[in-house]
Amino acid sequence: MMIMKFGGTSVGSAERIKAVAKLTASYEEPKMVVLSAMSGTTNSLLEIADFLAKKNTDAAQDKINLLEKQYQLVADELLSAGEYREMSYNLLREHFSYIRSFTLDLFTANEIKCLVAQGELLSTALFELYCHESGIEAFLLPALNFMRIDREQEPDHFYIKENLQRELEKYPGKSFFITQGFICRNAFGEIDNLKRGGSDYSAALIGVAMNASAIQIWTDIDGFHDNDPRFVKDTHAIAELSFDEAAELAYFGAKILHPSTILPAKVGGIPVIIKNTLDPQAEGTTITDKASGKGIKAIAAKDGITAIRVKSGRMLLAYGFMRKVFEIFEIYKTPIDMITTSEISVSLTIDDTSRLSRIIDDLKHYGTVETDHDQTIISAVGEGIAEGSNAAQSVFNALSGIPVRMISYGGSQHNISILIPSSFKSQALNALSAHLFNH
Ligand code: ASP
Ligand code: MG
Repeated sequence: MMIMKFGGTSVGSAERIKAVAKLTASYEEPKMVVLSAMSGTTNSLLEIADFLAKKNTDAAQDKINLLEKQYQLVADELLSAGEYREMSYNLLREHFSYIRSFTLDLFTANEIKCLVAQGELLSTALFELYCHESGIEAFLLPALNFMRIDREQEPDHFYIKENLQRELEKYPGKSFFITQGFICRNAFGEIDNLKRGGSDYSAALIGVAMNASAIQIWTDIDGFHDNDPRFVKDTHAIAELSFDEAAELAYFGAKILHPSTILPAKVGGIPVIIKNTLDPQAEGTTITDKASGKGIKAIAAKDGITAIRVKSGRMLLAYGFMRKVFEIFEIYKTPIDMITTSEISVSLTIDDTSRLSRIIDDLKHYGTVETDHDQTIISAVGEGIAEGSNAAQSVFNALSGIPVRMISYGGSQHNISILIPSSFKSQALNALSAHLFNH
């Protein structure tokens, strides 16, 4: 079985949905097609939720009406007049009357999850209808029947596997399945999700549960590029990456893949293949446990970083200081990305600043605290580049003239990260491409 996951832009219009149906049907292997919501829908649903939470029912109604109109247009373009279009109208009526039901009542945190789940439920239902109208024998397996997270918000692999198998057993001998990305149930059986961009993660979890031959992630670019194409003109797709390289790139800013996707695939030993829906013939990027080639493969950038420096004489020759500092981040459930230390100070970076003021208040018990906002982590990634190659030297040569706030080398063997003010990001990315890749 092969997993074929399509992101929001890949199913972003009637035309694109048709193309995905043709593309998936053209693969002979048994497959599970995992879909995101149509692009823009999750954002719209969250806006509606926001209006409702602020008791702005009129604005919510307007937004719902607008979204429904957009979906009616999609249905009209997707399905020919007659039986299937009728079915799609009924489908939209059902979903939108459910969405409207939230305007009548109190609105709770869990209801936001129910509301936002409508995006993937709609895209998969419309896709299934189109497949049936086109004579493709496809079966929709509800993700809410098998995808589940536990009390720690971590996937419940055992539950997922058992229940997915149970769903599949309902269709012996069949080979074309559809399911929703992103949505799941939580430990209490309520509707929940795998966080923004989580459809990639769904695909990986399903791939592992089914011991799939490959997890294909179909998007609108021909794979991982060696630098960010939004800032650097001359970037190139990378044919092969190792799981470790891809994980570093995804975590440190390459928008192409949800960072959680790689770990399950790596554990399950299942290749992840990034493919371009707009150019299906392009090779894409294949991610396996093999490392190929030497040196720096790619550069990624992660914005919105805040650097925090804690300075304390008490740190000198003391033990237990770091633990106290780390504990504060643990209490406020805020992950740390980079860290560097000196004899009397420690600098670290975070990207989730929602609890920053409380973190700073607590840190002040241990020393003086300085923060720098609007920072960017630039990462150079390649197997083993932080193990005695001259990669670090090349990176610093490229960055001459750019103010570097922090450096991280040797934490991972595959990554050299530096922290710079975001205003220097574009300059840094271009300088790195020019120096490292000689384009
Ligand atoms: N629809 C969800 C989002 O926009 C999940 C996804 O697209 O991966 O975040
Ligand atoms: Mg995505």
